[in-house]
Amino acid sequence: MTHPNEPLIGVPGGRARLDTPALLIERPALLRNIQRMAEFAAARSVGLRPHSKTHKSVEIARLQVAAGAKGICCVTIGEAEVMVAGGIPGVLITSPAVTESKIRRLIALARQAGPGGLMIVLDHPENLAALDQAAAALDHPLDVLVDYGAGYNRTGAASHVELLGLALLAADAPHLRLRGLQAYAGNLQHIPERAHRAAAAADLRATIGHLIETARGQGTPFEIVTGAGTGTHDLDPEGHVFTELQAGSYVFMDVDYHHALADGLNGPPFETALLAQTAVVSVNAADWVTTDGGIKCFATDGPLPEVASGVDPASRYQLFGDEHGKLFPVGPRPALGARIELVTPHCDPTVNLHDWYHVMEGDTLVALWPIDGRGRR
Ligand code: PLP
Ligand code: MN
Repeated sequence: MTHPNEPLIGVPGGRARLDTPALLIERPALLRNIQRMAEFAAARSVGLRPHSKTHKSVEIARLQVAAGAKGICCVTIGEAEVMVAGGIPGVLITSPAVTESKIRRLIALARQAGPGGLMIVLDHPENLAALDQAAAALDHPLDVLVDYGAGYNRTGAASHVELLGLALLAADAPHLRLRGLQAYAGNLQHIPERAHRAAAAADLRATIGHLIETARGQGTPFEIVTGAGTGTHDLDPEGHVFTELQAGSYVFMDVDYHHALADGLNGPPFETALLAQTAVVSVNAADWVTTDGGIKCFATDGPLPEVASGVDPASRYQLFGDEHGKLFPVGPRPALGARIELVTPHCDPTVNLHDWYHVMEGDTLVALWPIDGRGRR
C-alpha cells in the first residue's frame, strides 16, 4: 500500500496534517454504535444481520459479527464476493441475481461459501427456475428467501398471492432451500415524524404477520423474516414478526438520518462516526472560502454536508463543482490550509466515492482501512 497518509499512522497530532479530502472514521464512536445496536437486538430477542452496503468494509463486518451479528447483508454479488473472501459468515444478498453472468458468479460464490454461508432473495418464478437449474451444479442446495415488495416495491413480489406462490415453488424446487422472507420497506426509514413512522411500520408488520401465518398454513414456514433499516430498527422488534434486522447506516450516521430521527428513537442513539476532512484551498472571495471537497467527495442525493469542526458549526457548506466546496464562515474566517471536517449528507453513496477509511483515535490516525466493496458490482 502506498497512501500519502500512511507515514502519519501512529503520529500524535497527525489529524491536522492529513492529505485531503479524506474520509474519517471516529473509531470510538463506530465501536459504540456497533455495540449499541448489538445490545439492543439482544435485549429485544431479535437477530441482527447488518447491511454492509453502508460501509463495504470487511474490517467493519468483522467487528459487527464479533459483536454478535449473525452475518451481514450485501446488495451486489461483487460486495458478497469480497465479504465471503474475507471470511464473513452468513452473507445474505438482498437483491435478485437475474442475468446469466450474475447467476454464474452466485453459484461459484455459494460453492466457495459452503452450506449455510450464502443466501439470496428472489421475487419471480422465472428467476426461481433459473436459480434452481444453476444450483444443480452445487453439492448443497442454494439458500433462498422470497422477497416481498412491502409497499416499497423496488424489488419483491407485489402481492400476497405471488409471494405465497413463490414460497410453494421454492419449497418444491429440488436444488433450492427456502429459508424465509425478506420485507424491506425503504420508504418508511426516513419518515421524519416518529408517530407516522411508527404507524406505518406497525401496518407493515400486521401485513407481514398475516403473510407468515398463511405461509405456515400452506406448509412453507419462514424460519427467517428479515427487514428494517436504521429508521425502523427500534420499532420492528415489536410483536416478534421479524426474526432479524438488516439496518446499515447506524454504524456511521449522516446528516440525513440525524434530521429524520430528530424526533427520537426508542432504541439507542447513534453517533456520527463518519466525517470528511477537507482543507481550505482559496480565501480570496469576500463571502466564502473554498475547500477541496466537492461532489466527488460527498453524495449529492440528500441534504448538504454540515460542519462538524474547524469553523463555527453554524457555517453553511455548499458543493462548488466536482472538486470544491464553498464554505460561508460564521465568525473568524478560516486560514489557507485550515482543516474543515464535515458530517456526510448520505453515508452510503458518500463512502462509495472514496478508496480508504482514515481510522482516527482522537487526533491520531491509527489505521487505513480499504473500502473493499467499492465499485464491486
Ligand atoms: N436493507 C436493504 C434492502 C436496503 O436497501 C438498505 C438501505 O438502503 C438497508 C437494509 C439498510 O438501511 P439503513 O441504511 O437505512 O439502515
Ligand atoms: Mn442509504
